[in-house]
Amino acid sequence: MISPATRAKYRTTVGIECHVQLKTKTKLFSAAGNDAREAPPNTLVNHIDFGLPGALPVLNEAAIELACRVAFALNSQPQKFSKFDRKHYFYPDLPMGYQITQYDEPIVVGGQVTIEVNGQPKTVGITRAHLEADAGKNTHHAGQDYSLVDLNRAGTPLLEIVSEPDMHSSAEAKAYARELYLLMRYADVSDANLYYGNMRFDVNVSVSPDEKLGTRSETKNLNSFRAVEKAVDYEVTRQIERLEKGERIVQETRGWDDAKQKTFSQRDKENADDYRYMPDPDLPPVILDDKYIEKIKAAMLKLPKDIRQELSKFDISPEVIEDILDNPQIYQKLSAAINDNIAPENIRRIAYDSLEKPETLKIRLEDHVKVAESLRVQASSSTSASYALEVLLEDPDKNVDDLLKENAQVSDEGEITKIVEQVITDNPKAAEDVKNGEMKAIGFLVGQVMKASQGKANPSLANHLIKKRLGL
Ligand code: MN
Repeated sequence: MISPATRAKYRTTVGIECHVQLKTKTKLFSAAGNDAREAPPNTLVNHIDFGLPGALPVLNEAAIELACRVAFALNSQPQKFSKFDRKHYFYPDLPMGYQITQYDEPIVVGGQVTIEVNGQPKTVGITRAHLEADAGKNTHHAGQDYSLVDLNRAGTPLLEIVSEPDMHSSAEAKAYARELYLLMRYADVSDANLYYGNMRFDVNVSVSPDEKLGTRSETKNLNSFRAVEKAVDYEVTRQIERLEKGERIVQETRGWDDAKQKTFSQRDKENADDYRYMPDPDLPPVILDDKYIEKIKAAMLKLPKDIRQELSKFDISPEVIEDILDNPQIYQKLSAAINDNIAPENIRRIAYDSLEKPETLKIRLEDHVKVAESLRVQASSSTSASYALEVLLEDPDKNVDDLLKENAQVSDEGEITKIVEQVITDNPKAAEDVKNGEMKAIGFLVGQVMKASQGKANPSLANHLIKKRLGL
């Protein structure tokens, strides 16, 4: 165990590389399908993915377009000139013997991502983002003395986004990973499904007792924000412990054992020299003109920062806005409502309904708006509104006007006065409390009136009548 005082002697530095699978229909250099999620092994492959001799890669323009969108999402711009290189290494899931990637002329150079930790905004610099082809997958079956190779994923377009070593805690690393995820989803460049590995994070962690950077370890292939956070915590502790014992940190690649919540050593880090990078002679450079770049920029969708600003106008709290951002379907519904110029109060209500009961997302926007509006003008109580939503969930074709009418509120003063009389007689203690100024008790009495009227009473009228009856 290391004491907080020892821990405080060291400064943590984190940089993150993230591989994002782009959601193109076909692969980066071949016409094979790109959605390998549920496909049987080796069914989404062709001669290019197999690396057959003489097979020539053809660049998928859709991947370039998505990479350009990422450039804007990262507050940068696409490079007008970029090119592809070969990175050589041997592994059974890489039949060509090299990965096609971008070495010295990537498609994105520079950029920023703004995160917030403990209410403090912070900017994380982006070094670069480059396009590359994903490798296939080796699968090892328990009890078998062989491995199987599935090349469905071989050639899937990846954009590798490299951050500057600007983060200094596991909380910042986690916030950055989540923000990158939101950016990829809202820029509509990736399915960003972490379970399927659509985004994979590699964290570079070092600790140092002074301003100089310490020797870093790289923990690869983390696929959740929590794993990013925990891997940073684990590495910081491990490295400080070693240094305190007078041991060295070795630059190495580590893996993450999610069950044990520990990193483990995989291999010594290769140097760039080991990969023998060279320009890919089969692929011409990518040259983009202003017109092409401007067209993509003009078609950019709203990014998280735009949505945060947009939703804050509807009196939705920052925490709730973050919850909405995590659920893009909720934002889609709200966005449609905003475009239809729905009353702000109704938009807010739909937002809260959708978060509390995600199944209400299935309710048609115009029906949901009618229910919200009926509440807003107090033609319905919250009980009858939730009744209407429940019926609509079971049968979306039910007429919402009929449902609301069927449950219309009783605003007839005479009828409610009778119920109020009864409720006060039945609850003398609560009535006394209200008289003595305990206004919490009035909520209870209103509740009893609502119950007795089967949710049909107008709550503000009930409140008014109770006070009147008690001489307040
Ligand atoms: Mn890579």
